[in-house]
Amino acid sequence: MQLKINENQPVKFMVNEMNQVLKNTNLLIVFIAILIAVSPATATVADEIVVYSARKEHLVKPLFDAYTTKTGIKIKYITDKAAPLLARLQAEGKNSPADMLITVDAGNLWQAAEKGVLSPVKSKILEKNIPARLRDPEGRWFGLSVRARTIVYATDRVKSNELSTYEDLADPRWKGRLCLRTSKKVYNQSLVAMMIAQKGEEEVEALVKGWVKNLATAPFSNDTRVMKAIAAGQCDVGIVNTYYYGRLLKKEPDIKLALFWPNQNDRGVHVNISGAGITRNAKNREQAIKLLEWLSGREAQNIFASLNMEYPANPAVKPDAIVSAWGEFKQDMLNVTKAGELQARSVMLMDRAGYR
Ligand code: FE
Repeated sequence: MQLKINENQPVKFMVNEMNQVLKNTNLLIVFIAILIAVSPATATVADEIVVYSARKEHLVKPLFDAYTTKTGIKIKYITDKAAPLLARLQAEGKNSPADMLITVDAGNLWQAAEKGVLSPVKSKILEKNIPARLRDPEGRWFGLSVRARTIVYATDRVKSNELSTYEDLADPRWKGRLCLRTSKKVYNQSLVAMMIAQKGEEEVEALVKGWVKNLATAPFSNDTRVMKAIAAGQCDVGIVNTYYYGRLLKKEPDIKLALFWPNQNDRGVHVNISGAGITRNAKNREQAIKLLEWLSGREAQNIFASLNMEYPANPAVKPDAIVSAWGEFKQDMLNVTKAGELQARSVMLMDRAGYR
């Protein structure tokens, strides 16, 4: 017994020691478990790209889903208007989780680059896929789709051969027949900025004054309102982005409106872009660049442009059938960077001309 007792003592001791070892082992297991739990989380962050998008969710999600399916890389995104996203990037600074900014209009992309929230990217793929005139010469942003801002007219009151150029809409014979969207919208600021680049301020100011004189009513808040006013007989002609025409036509296929391609004998139709850049404080720069390169390629360009009835920025990719049906046209070949560089002068000019 004693022996047993004596024997038990060391056994008890051993058990205690074993318990301690087990406890330590448990601690070790817990520690390893934490490590395992943390490491995949870290790995997930590395395999995750964060995008701030001024393009709406339904225009970016299908692309991101396709990319995730293809690569396994997750894309987190938030969508908002261009100005709040830019303000957010500036306020967040180094702490920003964003790797990429997607926004519309070269004017906005140029502003983002000016404010220092984008960083230059050197990529053979992007340089090959996106024409030089649709990207920042320093590589801080790249156009991903092209949007045409053109003339729309009432087919029951205007014949296409009565139309010719943006400038012609300033002619007195259009008095009381023109509808425009507000000059506060960057689309019109870019349109006028690109004209300033080619014609000079004096000439453009005279022509914008002519537009204002011809207005049938105060400028509208958006392009769709412009078209509805034309269809309703409030005015006969206007200037809109073609994808708004496409959207309206889907809802009202019998609407008596048509697009006209102006300035085909000189500089061509005003085009702008939606595009993207890599943020200055990107945590996942390499992956974000790969995503941007993919967005410029054939597969994504098809989706990117057709989702919003726009034109692919990559010239190797054809627009979809609906968009192609609007016809081919000569587009302005001037680098869209000018829309940003001359934005402030454009805003002041429109103000002087009384274009609200
Ligand atoms: Fe738009």
